[in-house]
Amino acid sequence: MTPTLQLAFDLIARRSVTPDDDGCQALMMERLAAAGFNNEELRFEEVENFWSRRGTEGPLVCFAGHTDVVPTGPEGRWSHPPFTPTIVDGLLYGRGAADMKGSLAAMVVACENFVRKHPNHKGSIAFLITSDEEGPAKNGTVKVVETLEARNEKIDMCIVGEPSSTNAVGDVVKNGRRGSLGAVLHVHGIQGHVAYPHLAKNPVHIAAPALAELAAEHWDEGNEFFPATSFQISNIKAGTGATNVIPGELEVVFNFRFSTELTADILKERTHAILDKHGLSYDIDWNLSGEPFLTARGPLVEASVQAIKEVTGRDTELSTAGGTSDGRFIAPTGAQVLELGPCNATIHKLDEHIVAEDLDTLTVIYERILELLLA
Ligand SMILES: [Zn+2]
Repeated sequence: MTPTLQLAFDLIARRSVTPDDDGCQALMMERLAAAGFNNEELRFEEVENFWSRRGTEGPLVCFAGHTDVVPTGPEGRWSHPPFTPTIVDGLLYGRGAADMKGSLAAMVVACENFVRKHPNHKGSIAFLITSDEEGPAKNGTVKVVETLEARNEKIDMCIVGEPSSTNAVGDVVKNGRRGSLGAVLHVHGIQGHVAYPHLAKNPVHIAAPALAELAAEHWDEGNEFFPATSFQISNIKAGTGATNVIPGELEVVFNFRFSTELTADILKERTHAILDKHGLSYDIDWNLSGEPFLTARGPLVEASVQAIKEVTGRDTELSTAGGTSDGRFIAPTGAQVLELGPCNATIHKLDEHIVAEDLDTLTVIYERILELLLA
């Protein structure tokens, strides 16, 4: 068993279902302290986080990630118990194997190896680890970043260990993410008897043309790194349950995934313009999960592309597809942010697994990136 796999086993065996950490961070901090890192525990309400740094100079290269995992679903339907890491036919099974305890193990071992070979490396290396990525994400990375900003401690480059790869480790690196803007729209009408519609005002009828226009709207073209912005309605509800009642109110839940061609404010304005044009009486609760971000070519992208090529022979693809990650909290500070981790085919599923030796490959890639940036 390699050091990375051993550490991955030790992390997966801890039942750190979000927001519980269940000792994962203590284990990581112990290893990092032994490698010359200074640990700082940063607890916000019930969420455990830590910041760990080796060195005082710039540039500061940070590894970021989360120790929490999503719930297992029915444990009896797993081929192997989700918190009993198991390797069968070269595949490592366990909750968090891909998302993202495997990456955490690879990061720690990569740093141990790098520091052993380069004890007087340039710049600084840091870890920003939370146990609140899979949950509400209110007391995790966002709060740690606020703490760092308040004391003007700047991350220059950040590798997030989210499982970015598609078919083979390193084939895809995420160099940005689309923004996510959600909303709950309430359209107000007047409840009444379906037989007396002149005494009522049906919010379903009033809203339907406006919703059709929102759904058909061409928001942007996207750009070199981003697909076109998409608008999706995820729920509509109205009605009292009775067939003879015109509902008094309609609720619509929708979400934008948007490119760097637009901002959340522009999307809000354009949505209001369409709703207003149709004369709706309404209110909207907006929820911005994150503005889009992009890390264009630069030292971190170059080092990662080169390291992946050297270690695996692969030409990596830069992509901004997929869901949001905690990179959205780090990028606004001006840091270059990349997501580089194992394959994501089974994340959040029953029987989550990855190719076990991919974690050793990932360890060498992370170490090589450090060498290219800080040796
Ligand atoms: Zn994750």
